Amino acid sequence: DPVWVGVDVGGTKVLAGVVDAQGRVTRTARRTTPGRRVDAAMVEDALTEAVVDAADGSPLAGVGVAAAGFVDAAGERVRFAPHLPWLDEPVRSRLAARWGAPVRLENDATAATYGELVLGAARGYRHVVMVNLGTGLGGGIVIDGRLYRGHNGMAGEFGHMQVVPGGAPCECGSRGCWEQYCSGRALERVARAGLGSRPSMLEELCAGNAELLTGPMVSDAAAAGDLLARAAFAEVGEWLGVGLANLVAAFDPEVVVVGGGVSEAGDRLLEPARVALERSLVGAGHREVPAVVPARLGNAAGLIGAAALVRDEVLADDEA
Ligand code: BGC
Ligand code: ZN
Repeated sequence: DPVWVGVDVGGTKVLAGVVDAQGRVTRTARRTTPGRRVDAAMVEDALTEAVVDAADGSPLAGVGVAAAGFVDAAGERVRFAPHLPWLDEPVRSRLAARWGAPVRLENDATAATYGELVLGAARGYRHVVMVNLGTGLGGGIVIDGRLYRGHNGMAGEFGHMQVVPGGAPCECGSRGCWEQYCSGRALERVARAGLGSRPSMLEELCAGNAELLTGPMVSDAAAAGDLLARAAFAEVGEWLGVGLANLVAAFDPEVVVVGGGVSEAGDRLLEPARVALERSLVGAGHREVPAVVPARLGNAAGLIGAAALVRDEVLADDEA
Protein backbone atom coordinates (compact mmCIF):
# COMPACT_ATOMS: atom_id res chain seq x y z
CA ASP A 1 0.00 0.00 0.00
CA PRO A 2 1.16 3.56 -0.64
CA VAL A 3 2.61 5.22 2.48
CA TRP A 4 2.74 8.78 3.79
CA VAL A 5 6.24 9.86 4.69
CA GLY A 6 7.47 12.83 6.67
CA VAL A 7 11.09 13.91 6.57
CA ASP A 8 12.72 16.40 8.91
CA VAL A 9 15.80 18.07 7.49
CA GLY A 10 17.74 19.66 10.32
CA GLY A 11 21.18 21.17 10.57
CA THR A 12 22.67 17.94 11.92
CA LYS A 13 20.47 15.08 10.82
CA VAL A 14 17.80 14.01 8.37
CA LEU A 15 15.03 11.92 9.95
CA ALA A 16 12.39 10.28 7.75
CA GLY A 17 9.43 8.24 8.92
CA VAL A 18 6.37 6.48 7.61
CA VAL A 19 3.34 7.90 9.42
CA ASP A 20 0.02 6.05 9.59
CA ALA A 21 -3.45 7.61 9.60
CA GLN A 22 -3.40 7.86 13.41
CA GLY A 23 -0.14 9.79 13.31
CA ARG A 24 1.96 6.88 14.53
CA VAL A 25 5.46 6.50 13.14
CA THR A 26 5.82 2.93 11.93
CA ARG A 27 9.31 3.00 10.44
CA THR A 28 12.15 5.52 10.49
CA ALA A 29 15.44 6.08 8.74
CA ARG A 30 18.12 8.65 9.38
CA ARG A 31 21.09 10.24 7.67
CA THR A 32 23.64 12.83 8.64
CA THR A 33 23.04 16.25 7.08
CA PRO A 34 26.00 16.76 4.73
CA GLY A 35 26.60 20.27 6.07
CA ARG A 36 26.23 23.80 5.00
CA ARG A 37 29.06 24.34 2.58
CA VAL A 38 28.18 21.52 0.18
CA ASP A 39 26.09 21.38 -2.96
CA ALA A 40 22.32 21.68 -2.45
CA ALA A 41 22.03 18.39 -4.37
CA MET A 42 23.95 16.56 -1.63
CA VAL A 43 21.31 17.42 0.92
CA GLU A 44 18.63 16.28 -1.51
CA ASP A 45 20.50 12.98 -2.02
CA ALA A 46 20.66 12.40 1.74
CA LEU A 47 17.00 13.13 2.10
CA THR A 48 16.10 10.88 -0.81
CA GLU A 49 18.05 8.02 0.78
CA ALA A 50 16.27 8.52 4.09
CA VAL A 51 12.83 8.62 2.42
CA VAL A 52 13.51 5.53 0.29
CA ASP A 53 14.84 3.67 3.34
CA ALA A 54 11.85 4.57 5.48
CA ALA A 55 9.34 3.60 2.76
CA ASP A 56 11.07 0.23 2.42
CA GLY A 57 9.74 -0.50 -1.07
CA SER A 58 6.20 0.82 -0.58
CA PRO A 59 5.01 3.40 -3.12
CA LEU A 60 4.83 6.98 -1.85
CA ALA A 61 1.35 8.47 -1.37
CA GLY A 62 2.99 11.78 -0.52
CA VAL A 63 5.99 13.22 1.28
CA GLY A 64 6.02 16.11 3.73
CA VAL A 65 9.38 17.86 3.96
CA ALA A 66 10.07 19.80 7.15
CA ALA A 67 13.10 21.93 6.39
CA ALA A 68 15.24 23.98 8.77
CA GLY A 69 14.96 27.15 6.76
CA PHE A 70 12.88 30.00 5.42
CA VAL A 71 10.22 28.47 3.19
CA ASP A 72 8.30 30.89 0.95
CA ALA A 73 4.56 31.46 1.36
CA ALA A 74 3.77 29.22 -1.63
CA GLY A 75 5.69 26.30 -0.12
CA GLU A 76 7.82 26.08 -3.25
CA ARG A 77 11.25 27.37 -2.31
CA VAL A 78 13.66 27.42 0.57
CA ARG A 79 14.69 31.05 0.35
CA PHE A 80 17.41 30.97 2.97
CA ALA A 81 18.66 28.47 5.54
CA PRO A 82 21.27 29.32 8.17
CA HIS A 83 22.30 25.66 8.62
CA LEU A 84 21.77 24.24 5.11
CA PRO A 85 23.17 24.98 1.65
CA TRP A 86 19.73 25.84 0.24
CA LEU A 87 19.65 29.39 -1.06
CA ASP A 88 16.54 30.25 -3.04
CA GLU A 89 16.21 26.66 -4.26
CA PRO A 90 12.95 25.35 -5.77
CA VAL A 91 13.08 22.36 -3.45
CA ARG A 92 9.42 21.27 -3.64
CA SER A 93 9.14 20.79 -7.41
CA ARG A 94 12.59 19.22 -7.64
CA LEU A 95 11.82 16.60 -5.01
CA ALA A 96 8.32 15.93 -6.39
CA ALA A 97 9.84 15.24 -9.82
CA ARG A 98 12.57 13.09 -8.32
CA TRP A 99 10.21 11.01 -6.18
CA GLY A 100 7.21 10.97 -8.52
CA ALA A 101 4.94 11.82 -5.60
CA PRO A 102 3.15 14.87 -4.16
CA VAL A 103 5.47 16.86 -1.91
CA ARG A 104 4.58 19.48 0.66
CA LEU A 105 7.37 21.76 1.87
CA GLU A 106 7.20 23.51 5.24
CA ASN A 107 9.55 25.06 7.77
CA ASP A 108 10.63 22.37 10.28
CA ALA A 109 9.38 24.15 13.38
CA THR A 110 6.10 25.15 11.72
CA ALA A 111 5.58 21.51 10.72
CA ALA A 112 6.33 20.43 14.29
CA THR A 113 3.83 22.98 15.57
CA TYR A 114 1.19 21.54 13.23
CA GLY A 115 2.00 18.03 14.47
CA GLU A 116 1.62 19.09 18.09
CA LEU A 117 -1.58 20.98 17.26
CA VAL A 118 -3.39 18.10 15.59
CA LEU A 119 -1.88 15.14 17.45
CA GLY A 120 0.20 16.31 20.39
CA ALA A 121 0.57 18.65 23.34
CA ALA A 122 -1.19 21.63 21.69
CA ARG A 123 -4.32 19.71 20.77
CA GLY A 124 -7.47 21.60 21.74
CA TYR A 125 -5.66 24.91 22.32
CA ARG A 126 -6.42 28.01 20.27
CA HIS A 127 -3.37 30.14 21.04
CA VAL A 128 -0.02 28.41 21.02
CA VAL A 129 3.63 29.30 20.77
CA MET A 130 6.06 26.51 20.01
CA VAL A 131 9.82 26.62 20.24
CA ASN A 132 11.84 23.84 18.64
CA LEU A 133 15.36 23.37 19.94
CA GLY A 134 17.55 21.48 17.52
CA THR A 135 20.79 22.62 15.97
CA GLY A 136 19.15 26.03 15.87
CA LEU A 137 16.01 27.44 17.42
CA GLY A 138 12.84 27.36 15.34
CA GLY A 139 9.36 28.53 16.15
CA GLY A 140 5.70 28.17 15.33
CA ILE A 141 2.62 30.23 16.09
CA VAL A 142 -1.01 29.18 16.35
CA ILE A 143 -3.58 31.99 16.44
CA ASP A 144 -7.28 31.22 16.80
CA GLY A 145 -6.61 27.53 16.19
CA ARG A 146 -4.71 28.04 12.94
CA LEU A 147 -1.05 28.15 12.00
CA TYR A 148 0.13 31.70 11.47
CA ARG A 149 2.68 32.01 8.66
CA GLY A 150 3.04 35.75 8.17
CA HIS A 151 3.35 37.71 4.94
CA ASN A 152 6.37 35.87 3.50
CA GLY A 153 5.60 32.54 5.12
CA MET A 154 8.49 33.28 7.47
CA ALA A 155 6.77 34.07 10.76
CA GLY A 156 8.10 32.33 13.84
CA GLU A 157 11.82 32.75 13.15
CA PHE A 158 12.29 33.31 16.87
CA GLY A 159 15.82 31.94 16.82
CA HIS A 160 17.05 35.08 15.10
CA MET A 161 15.51 37.62 17.41
CA GLN A 162 18.41 39.61 18.77
CA VAL A 163 18.80 39.12 22.50
CA VAL A 164 22.39 40.34 22.94
CA PRO A 165 23.34 43.35 20.80
CA GLY A 166 26.78 42.67 19.35
CA GLY A 167 26.72 39.16 20.87
CA ALA A 168 27.85 35.81 19.51
CA PRO A 169 27.98 35.58 15.70
CA CYS A 170 25.16 33.54 14.17
CA GLU A 171 25.11 31.41 11.04
CA CYS A 172 22.41 33.72 9.67
CA GLY A 173 25.04 36.46 9.42
CA SER A 174 23.84 38.50 12.38
CA ARG A 175 25.00 38.64 16.00
CA GLY A 176 23.48 37.92 19.37
CA CYS A 177 20.59 35.84 18.02
CA TRP A 178 18.54 33.93 20.60
CA GLU A 179 19.61 30.57 19.10
CA GLN A 180 23.22 31.36 19.96
CA TYR A 181 22.16 31.12 23.63
CA CYS A 182 19.36 28.60 23.42
CA SER A 183 19.65 25.59 21.07
CA GLY A 184 21.61 22.36 20.66
CA ARG A 185 24.63 24.32 19.46
CA ALA A 186 24.32 26.69 22.41
CA LEU A 187 24.26 23.73 24.81
CA GLU A 188 27.48 22.44 23.27
CA ARG A 189 29.08 25.85 23.44
CA VAL A 190 28.18 26.43 27.08
CA ALA A 191 29.38 22.96 28.10
CA ARG A 192 32.59 23.38 26.12
CA ALA A 193 33.30 26.70 27.77
CA GLY A 194 32.92 25.08 31.18
CA LEU A 195 35.32 22.19 30.51
CA GLY A 196 38.22 22.25 32.93
CA SER A 197 36.41 24.48 35.41
CA ARG A 198 35.26 21.44 37.40
CA PRO A 199 35.60 17.68 37.05
CA SER A 200 33.18 16.31 34.49
CA MET A 201 32.56 13.05 32.68
CA LEU A 202 32.26 15.14 29.52
CA GLU A 203 36.07 15.19 29.34
CA GLU A 204 36.00 11.44 28.90
CA LEU A 205 32.96 11.39 26.62
CA CYS A 206 34.68 13.69 24.14
CA ALA A 207 38.03 11.96 24.68
CA GLY A 208 39.63 15.19 25.85
CA ASN A 209 38.83 16.98 22.58
CA ALA A 210 36.31 19.75 23.25
CA GLU A 211 35.62 20.04 19.52
CA LEU A 212 34.07 16.57 19.59
CA LEU A 213 31.58 17.44 22.30
CA THR A 214 27.97 17.07 21.14
CA GLY A 215 24.57 17.99 22.56
CA PRO A 216 23.60 14.34 23.14
CA MET A 217 26.80 13.89 25.20
CA VAL A 218 25.72 16.79 27.41
CA SER A 219 22.26 15.21 27.75
CA ASP A 220 23.71 11.83 28.70
CA ALA A 221 26.10 13.38 31.20
CA ALA A 222 23.33 15.48 32.76
CA ALA A 223 21.14 12.38 33.09
CA ALA A 224 24.03 10.63 34.84
CA GLY A 225 24.26 13.47 37.37
CA ASP A 226 27.20 15.37 35.90
CA LEU A 227 27.24 18.84 37.44
CA LEU A 228 28.87 20.64 34.53
CA ALA A 229 26.32 19.20 32.11
CA ARG A 230 23.49 20.11 34.47
CA ALA A 231 24.79 23.66 34.76
CA ALA A 232 24.82 23.89 30.97
CA PHE A 233 21.14 22.88 30.85
CA ALA A 234 20.32 25.37 33.59
CA GLU A 235 21.96 28.17 31.61
CA VAL A 236 20.29 27.26 28.31
CA GLY A 237 17.00 26.79 30.19
CA GLU A 238 17.26 30.26 31.67
CA TRP A 239 17.80 31.74 28.22
CA LEU A 240 14.79 29.78 27.06
CA GLY A 241 12.64 31.37 29.75
CA VAL A 242 13.88 34.89 29.00
CA GLY A 243 13.05 34.54 25.32
CA LEU A 244 9.70 32.94 26.12
CA ALA A 245 8.82 35.93 28.29
CA ASN A 246 9.18 38.11 25.18
CA LEU A 247 7.08 35.74 23.08
CA VAL A 248 4.39 35.52 25.74
CA ALA A 249 4.35 39.32 25.98
CA ALA A 250 3.82 39.43 22.21
CA PHE A 251 1.35 36.58 21.66
CA ASP A 252 -0.30 35.87 25.02
CA PRO A 253 -0.61 32.12 24.30
CA GLU A 254 -2.51 29.59 26.42
CA VAL A 255 0.36 27.16 26.29
CA VAL A 256 3.99 27.07 25.24
CA VAL A 257 5.27 23.83 23.71
CA VAL A 258 8.99 23.10 23.66
CA GLY A 259 10.24 20.45 21.23
CA GLY A 260 13.35 19.34 19.39
CA GLY A 261 16.21 17.12 20.53
CA VAL A 262 17.33 19.38 23.38
CA SER A 263 13.85 19.30 24.93
CA GLU A 264 14.19 15.58 25.59
CA ALA A 265 15.99 16.64 28.77
CA GLY A 266 12.54 17.57 30.10
CA ASP A 267 12.43 19.44 33.39
CA ARG A 268 16.17 19.83 33.52
CA LEU A 269 15.62 22.38 30.76
CA LEU A 270 12.01 23.40 31.34
CA GLU A 271 12.15 24.10 35.08
CA PRO A 272 14.77 26.87 34.83
CA ALA A 273 12.82 28.16 31.84
CA ARG A 274 9.59 28.38 33.84
CA VAL A 275 11.38 30.24 36.63
CA ALA A 276 12.93 32.75 34.22
CA LEU A 277 9.61 33.17 32.39
CA GLU A 278 7.77 34.05 35.63
CA ARG A 279 10.52 36.43 36.58
CA SER A 280 10.81 38.19 33.22
CA LEU A 281 7.21 38.27 32.00
CA VAL A 282 5.52 41.63 32.08
CA GLY A 283 2.56 41.70 34.49
CA ALA A 284 3.24 38.14 35.62
CA GLY A 285 1.27 38.64 38.85
CA HIS A 286 -1.77 39.93 36.95
CA ARG A 287 -2.25 37.32 34.27
CA GLU A 288 -2.34 33.61 33.67
CA VAL A 289 1.20 32.58 32.90
CA PRO A 290 1.06 29.83 30.23
CA ALA A 291 2.25 26.35 31.05
CA VAL A 292 5.55 25.40 29.44
CA VAL A 293 5.19 21.79 28.32
CA PRO A 294 7.34 19.36 26.34
CA ALA A 295 6.29 18.32 22.84
CA ARG A 296 4.26 15.13 23.10
CA LEU A 297 5.50 13.83 19.77
CA GLY A 298 9.06 14.41 20.93
CA ASN A 299 11.69 14.70 18.28
CA ALA A 300 9.35 13.19 15.66
CA ALA A 301 6.97 16.18 15.80
CA GLY A 302 8.43 17.73 12.63
CA LEU A 303 8.17 14.65 10.47
CA ILE A 304 4.73 13.72 11.85
CA GLY A 305 3.49 17.26 11.22
CA ALA A 306 4.95 17.30 7.69
CA ALA A 307 3.32 13.95 6.87
CA ALA A 308 -0.01 15.22 8.23
CA LEU A 309 0.28 18.39 6.13
CA VAL A 310 0.88 16.54 2.85
CA ARG A 311 -1.81 14.00 3.64
CA ASP A 312 -4.40 16.69 4.47
CA GLU A 313 -3.53 18.52 1.26
CA VAL A 314 -3.66 15.50 -1.05
CA LEU A 315 -6.90 14.19 0.48
CA ALA A 316 -8.51 17.64 0.23
CA ASP A 317 -7.52 17.78 -3.48
CA ASP A 318 -8.99 14.32 -4.06
CA GLU A 319 -12.30 15.46 -2.61
CA ALA A 320 -12.41 18.62 -4.69
C1 BGC B 1 16.26 28.48 11.21
C2 BGC B 1 14.83 28.05 11.27
C3 BGC B 1 14.71 26.65 11.80
C4 BGC B 1 15.49 26.52 13.10
C5 BGC B 1 15.46 25.13 13.70
C6 BGC B 1 16.89 28.29 12.56
O1 BGC B 1 18.21 28.71 12.54
O2 BGC B 1 16.33 29.85 10.84
O3 BGC B 1 14.23 28.16 9.99
O4 BGC B 1 13.36 26.35 12.01
O5 BGC B 1 16.82 26.93 12.94
O6 BGC B 1 15.94 24.16 12.87
ZN1 ZN C 1 20.76 34.39 13.58
